[in-house]
Amino acid sequence: MLTGQMMAFPLTITHLWQRAREFFSQQEVVSRLPDKSLHRQTYADFAARTARLAHALTRLGVGPGDRVATLCWNHRQHLEAYYAVPMMGAVVHTLNLRLHPSELLYIARSAADTVLIVDRSLWKLYEAFGPQVESLRHVIVVPDTGPAPGETLDYESLLAAESAEYPWPALEENTAAMLCYTSGTTGNPKGVLYSHRSTVLHALVSCMTDTLSLRQSDTVLPVVPMFHASAWGLPYSAVLAGAKLVMPGPHLDAISLLDLMETEKVTVAAGVPTLWLGILAALDAAPTRWNLASVRSMIIGGSAAPASMIEGFATRHHLEVTHAWGMTETNPLGTVANVKHSLAGRSPEEQLHLRASQGYAVPFVETRHVNDPGLALPRDGHTFGELEVRGPWVAASYYSGDGADRFTADGWFKTGDVVTLDAEGYMRITDRAKDVIKSGGEWISSVALENALMSHPAVLEAAVFAAQHPTWTERPVAAVTFKPGQTATPEELRAHLEGRFAKFWLPDAYVVLAQIPRTSTGKFLKTKLREDHGDILLRPSATPG
Ligand code: AMP
Repeated sequence: MLTGQMMAFPLTITHLWQRAREFFSQQEVVSRLPDKSLHRQTYADFAARTARLAHALTRLGVGPGDRVATLCWNHRQHLEAYYAVPMMGAVVHTLNLRLHPSELLYIARSAADTVLIVDRSLWKLYEAFGPQVESLRHVIVVPDTGPAPGETLDYESLLAAESAEYPWPALEENTAAMLCYTSGTTGNPKGVLYSHRSTVLHALVSCMTDTLSLRQSDTVLPVVPMFHASAWGLPYSAVLAGAKLVMPGPHLDAISLLDLMETEKVTVAAGVPTLWLGILAALDAAPTRWNLASVRSMIIGGSAAPASMIEGFATRHHLEVTHAWGMTETNPLGTVANVKHSLAGRSPEEQLHLRASQGYAVPFVETRHVNDPGLALPRDGHTFGELEVRGPWVAASYYSGDGADRFTADGWFKTGDVVTLDAEGYMRITDRAKDVIKSGGEWISSVALENALMSHPAVLEAAVFAAQHPTWTERPVAAVTFKPGQTATPEELRAHLEGRFAKFWLPDAYVVLAQIPRTSTGKFLKTKLREDHGDILLRPSATPG
């Protein structure tokens, strides 16, 4: 083999930061504070404060490989930790503030965090688990709602005492950068340890025109929390592009977000479907209240984006949705549902169908789907199988070493998503493996039923789950929530589905709920639905579907 003669230049987060400081020093980072006021700083301020934070952490004894945890909303200090900690050679570990304290305790202990950066507004949550984390040596409080309590260190005072220049170490590109835990609805959460290289490659591909299309003129609003799968890498990809960042802080309701999108002239916003359903409902209720002419793309992922929502935004509000799929284990971006140029001549219905799929794999992510013995299945758009992926930003193992059965002998990661793939490579999720509905031996796609139910004008959200059945073992049952002031009978819902699906797919019953139970990252919690309503078809009073 003849080796190429190009430089071995490491792919590190430090380069993203240096470039931002050198070329985009006047670009802005805007953060919304708990009192709803806006704080503005430039990339130059961000760069200086990142260096100050690194000095402060060094003074506190943080060394290479140490885990520095964050328990924070999306804001500038969190962004500073996203850079300072990995650039020092340490690991930033994002804790999910929606978890129960017992789960946070498990995760912080598993990671053996040595320093924790926590928002003052989340102090009560910290108190419920933090003092029990044996490895924690220092707690630093971001004074978002007031000064740090008692003995703890104040983030701003720490930074004020330090120099704005830091001798960043030359890092090898495979150095660990960030630790994120899976949401763990089954079994204990598992840590995924991203590297500088995986983060940088992920950011580069995210920026591509046919991926998320991020550019220097963008104003990016990551509504997806920085404690979940690195906010889909946007704090890195947006800085790589040199874009303006708008951080929403704790205000994630539809009205607050719409106000922010309008006043800051956001061009790209990203979040989970529930959030966008709320935004769509607010826009439908007051279509002329906000001027969203600046918005070019709304990235939606984390759960399936219903076709009716994608269409509603496009036809009623001229807003474009980019539907994407990913996982904590994939850093997280894996597929994006852009319509290929060769398919752009298809009918509007067919194009909507493509946009509502989970899309095709981004460069350097490879996808296949397999049956139970692990044999590759045909890409015919019909055959269901478990999705497996591989690529430079896909986990090769879990941090704690458990979950080894999720990695195949030939180097693929088993996602646990049941999907179809078509000849063009478009992937469509039908279920999570643990949520599949198998009725009389036949698989029924809960996601397809949910999408169709959510296109009913009265339905806000729908989650379809497997209920026990004496003859068929399992039958689908739909949990629905209605839009304010609206309702529909089971017969009406059934009529809405008839003709779209084979008869045996139609839910046997409908459960009307005020809210569908969710995981800490906004996904339908079907284990809870099965726990609460799994025996509904065995009860004499079952609502017929
Ligand atoms: P997490 O690791 O918490 O980000 O969860 C990853 C899981 O979320 C995936 O395995 C999918 O089951 C689900 N998911 C992510 N994006 C989508 C999407 N666009 N459509 C349907 N499910 C999704």
